[in-house]
Amino acid sequence: MEYIGSVYRPPSEAYSLIIQATLGCAHNDCTFCSMFKDKSFRVRKEDEIFRDLEESRHMFHNVGRVFLADGDALALKNDALLRILEKTKTLFPACERVGIYGSPQDVLRKSPAELAALRDNGLGIIYIGAESGSDRVLAEIKKGAERAQIIEAVQKIEAASVPASVTFISGLSGQDGWEEHAAFSGTMISEMEASYVGLLTLMVEPQAPLYKDIQEGRFRVLTPLQVVEETLLLLENVNVSRKCVFRSNHASNYVSLRGTLPQDKERMLGQLRGALQNADQLKDERFRML
Ligand code: SF4
Repeated sequence: MEYIGSVYRPPSEAYSLIIQATLGCAHNDCTFCSMFKDKSFRVRKEDEIFRDLEESRHMFHNVGRVFLADGDALALKNDALLRILEKTKTLFPACERVGIYGSPQDVLRKSPAELAALRDNGLGIIYIGAESGSDRVLAEIKKGAERAQIIEAVQKIEAASVPASVTFISGLSGQDGWEEHAAFSGTMISEMEASYVGLLTLMVEPQAPLYKDIQEGRFRVLTPLQVVEETLLLLENVNVSRKCVFRSNHASNYVSLRGTLPQDKERMLGQLRGALQNADQLKDERFRML
């Protein structure tokens, strides 16, 4: 089995078998993202996907989790996805969960019955990038979706009893309007009621369009302490009524947070206030990575 181009997966899929069902990202336009600039979006042929699954079966006998890549595999038509899930179940009967990345549009295109069919056939988590709760920021980064659409998509996933794991990015507004980015992201987390929320911190690679803006001074990156202030404001604005696992423990983050909301909110706020008082608690820039 040979992977085509760079392959990305969420941190929690580190030990999963990764199968490329699609290549690239159908949107591929977000200004901060360099993940799939090396390939155009396309759906892989079913026999190629099945061959990868069969070859993997010969290599790995105990597969507990499968992740369907690349960036936008939920864009596949439901019947194609159902055939992949069925094949996965046949080859890996011990597989407990299949995960997938989906855009808000992918989710909104599916009916509740289609999402339920995916769940019944093994789909156990959908990862979705919200990035920001501010429509201004979403427009600036060319996310291709508005706040209300992202909230609707996440609520639709959860209503189908599939856990949604939603990502936001600290520092995405730079030094201009970070307060709005933080507060609106916090209220969005409160509204959408996802099972999991992950917070990364902006790191921009040269292939991303935003890189040029940074180099030419049009986008001013937050300092590490500003990132902590922004995260504090975001978390202060989170008021969920159902359990949400909140993680900000990615390699890009300056302060590692992990807790279950709402009960761990005060502890995590205390951790952030502590980091603001003592900058030694921040991760050294040299150890940050995407
Ligand atoms: S952030 Fe996600 S949706 Fe945006 S271009 Fe990158 S992979 Fe595609």
